[in-house]
Amino acid sequence: MKVLVINSGSSSLKYQFIDIEKNEAVAKGICERIGMQGSKITYAPIGKDKIVKEAPIPNHTAGIRLVLDALEDKEFGVIKSLKEIDAVGHRVVHGGEKFASSVLITDEVIDVIESLTDLAPLHNPANLTGIRAFKELMPDVPMVGVFDTAFHQTMPKEAYLYALPYSAYTDLMIRRYGFHGTSHYYVSRRAAELLGKPIEQTKIVTCHLGNGSSIAAVDGGKSIDTSMGFTPLEGVPMGTRCGDIDPAIVTYLMEKLNLDVAGVTEYMNKKSGVFGISGISSDFRDLADAEHTDERAALALKVFAYKVKKYIGAYACAMGGLDAIVFTAGVGENDRRVRELVLEGLEFLNVEADFELNMTCPRGATVDLAKPSSKVRVFVIPTDEEMVIAKDTARIVKEMQNAK
Ligand code: ADP
Repeated sequence: MKVLVINSGSSSLKYQFIDIEKNEAVAKGICERIGMQGSKITYAPIGKDKIVKEAPIPNHTAGIRLVLDALEDKEFGVIKSLKEIDAVGHRVVHGGEKFASSVLITDEVIDVIESLTDLAPLHNPANLTGIRAFKELMPDVPMVGVFDTAFHQTMPKEAYLYALPYSAYTDLMIRRYGFHGTSHYYVSRRAAELLGKPIEQTKIVTCHLGNGSSIAAVDGGKSIDTSMGFTPLEGVPMGTRCGDIDPAIVTYLMEKLNLDVAGVTEYMNKKSGVFGISGISSDFRDLADAEHTDERAALALKVFAYKVKKYIGAYACAMGGLDAIVFTAGVGENDRRVRELVLEGLEFLNVEADFELNMTCPRGATVDLAKPSSKVRVFVIPTDEEMVIAKDTARIVKEMQNAK
């Protein structure tokens, strides 16, 4: 079975075409600047040079048309006919409390995703645009929705409830949802394999550190807590997002800086995080370059790592034990300095990291950074959210076909 995985944003559309039996991607790429000047498509058949083509892409349907054309192109395509696309898997950011697992996309499912727009006003409408465009272009191909929030639906009430009036939860759907679920799911399974234990017998803290970052406590394979909350703004500081702050700061900022709701939202989402502290960049590579010459760049890294460390401690406590810490995503997989700062001083938790290996291990590889004597393993595991989406899609489509 071959599955096309789609991650549709407001002005971009990432895609990956995956061969399920071979367990590998065949081609991938992105349409950028959809609906704007200077739109382009990047198409990369795996193992060959990528092709970048500037072309007008007025909307998502036009972008998908270009993706399909590239996939079946006579010269550099990977399929002879679109009939070889057996299913489409869509990443959907918010499934609210409605979706605790992936689902076959029907008209009713589309309505429910739409009804959750209030919870993810930037993401869900963009995801739906991709779903609707496919429905129009390939109406007979089954589609599956895979939700970023679904994996965290196992959190107990004490972890997901905020201490607001209970009606905030019952009437306004305000609770912790958590995000990056497919990534936390994937790396916790890989970690259990590396530990050589059934997932049910493991206690793992997964640190998805990228442009957006979240930490999860995965106990017995289930998410029991995670740092992102009602929105992806909560938790550790991020590239430009503030993460946890005293909620009273919000109204104070509005008053002192004369900001309206949109203004303060932008302040916390776009101007804060490591960018806000350093004043230099949201990109951790730039901060690493400036660490020894710029005090605030060094401080941004320290604040970030300190907060990650605090979550690891909190989650070890929440689970009553710890077998492994996992680092994943752009920063977790690549930023040795951040990992070093996070891992320093965790010996009391039985975490003995090999700091030399941390500095020398190859990027993009799966590595165990713990010393042989360490009771807790420390894994770097490259995440693969697309593969999770593709496999879930294939499983659900096969179940549907068998039921017929
Ligand atoms: P997202 O999917 O949330 O956009 P990624 O997981 O792709 O983010 O991570 C992007 C981040 O990874 C960038 O902000 C960049 O700082 C960081 N990153 C990528 N490569 C490196 C590297 N070699 N060293 C340090 N940081 C890196």
